[in-house]
Amino acid sequence: MYDWLVVGAGFAGSVLAERIASERNEKVLVIDKRPHIAGNAYDCQDAAGVLIHQYGPHIFHTNAQVVIDYLSRFTAWRPYEHRVLGQVDGKLVPIPINLTTINTLYDLDLTPDGMEAFLAERRIEIAEIKTSEDVVLSTVGRELYEKFFRGYTRKQWGLDPSKLDRSVTARIPTRTNTDDRYFTDTFQNMPARGYTVMFERMLDHPNIDVQLSTSYVDAIRRVKFRKMVFTGPIDEFFDFRLGKLPYRSLRFEHETLDVEQYQPVATVNYPQTEDFTRITEYKHLTGQVHARTSITREYPSASGDPFYPIPNEENAVLLRRYQALANRLDHVWFAGRLASYRYYNMDQVVGQALATFERIQAADKAGLARSSAAS
Ligand code: FAD
Ligand code: UDP
Repeated sequence: MYDWLVVGAGFAGSVLAERIASERNEKVLVIDKRPHIAGNAYDCQDAAGVLIHQYGPHIFHTNAQVVIDYLSRFTAWRPYEHRVLGQVDGKLVPIPINLTTINTLYDLDLTPDGMEAFLAERRIEIAEIKTSEDVVLSTVGRELYEKFFRGYTRKQWGLDPSKLDRSVTARIPTRTNTDDRYFTDTFQNMPARGYTVMFERMLDHPNIDVQLSTSYVDAIRRVKFRKMVFTGPIDEFFDFRLGKLPYRSLRFEHETLDVEQYQPVATVNYPQTEDFTRITEYKHLTGQVHARTSITREYPSASGDPFYPIPNEENAVLLRRYQALANRLDHVWFAGRLASYRYYNMDQVVGQALATFERIQAADKAGLARSSAAS
């Protein structure tokens, strides 16, 4: 008999399992239908011995001190600031769009003020910014929107940016200086020995058992438990009874090359050409020294593992109906990107899992107070 069944060994499930095992001293069984821990953050050595991310590049960045403090118990860190170039009009230019991007693309020599004026002439005034198209048109205008965003987003999401919530392209800023970092968070570091090693340490606790290649449906048939953390898709938990929440998926094409370095930065985006969206070369992220190098091409797809919740109004309505069902269950706690159906980064999932743990503790205290008041 376990106190807790935790479904999913990604960030959400592993953080909650660790907190429950350590702080509540309760027995936890963590299951995952995949043959490994770490969820989408899983990394491993490929046949050539190069450390790769099986589910595409995962770059850790955050401003949340509680998340840094928590994860630092399980890993040392390696400083890494992510840089991305885009293959646009036959040139390699920085993404997010910055001063260098504009000067290189248009053969100009603008200053930051000059770029501000350049954008001011082009941006389109939009009264209410609702869609991903609105976000970009209102910051950089139509031409740059078409060069950098329209094709990439159509490929990535199978939808025109005008049909996607503004939150998607709002992830990408525009800069009038030469800062070419993809993120500006205060903490930008990779787990020194990789994500999987960090997860192994998180789950290495006498109160935690882990069973891999085990689905939720298998587990509930044979495992006895009192409470549950569910980090799989929320609609799947309810047997899709209200309908399916759609996801965008990816196919990853991993390749090892007989050269030491393939491209100048970790990721090169292809907003205008190719069927894939981007190519990532892992040695830039990991700092690994190796005579060969491994890259991944990401091909967006409608079917496959559920990677990206699709944020739009219709899906938000369906999500709220599933959340209403979830709120009626007092022995099941939902957490993570799939159970929340939110486009969360890793640090946001860790923050959410830590907050969920606090809610579990608070619910117990409230229950105790209720029973002592009744007695
Ligand atoms: P997951 O990691 O998806 O873990 C959920 C686990 O539950 C999975 O292992 C799954 O197998 C298991 N599961 C689901 N259903 C069942 C079931 N029925 N039975 C048993 N097991 C089940 N974030 C960043 O911060 N930086 C990045 O650079 C970044 N890059 C990304 C790139 C890609 C291509 C993708 C797809 C995501 C990226 N993310 C990035 C987001 C990051 O992957 C997530 O925030 C994080 O992994 C979510 O953790 P999770 O535990 O919620 O979900
Ligand atoms: N995007 C784009 N062109 C780019 C980079 C990003 O159009 O060169 C858009 C696209 O819609 C993408 C979104 O911005 O899905 C968010 O980009 P991000 O790099 O954060 O995507 P992720 O790493 O989550 O796949």
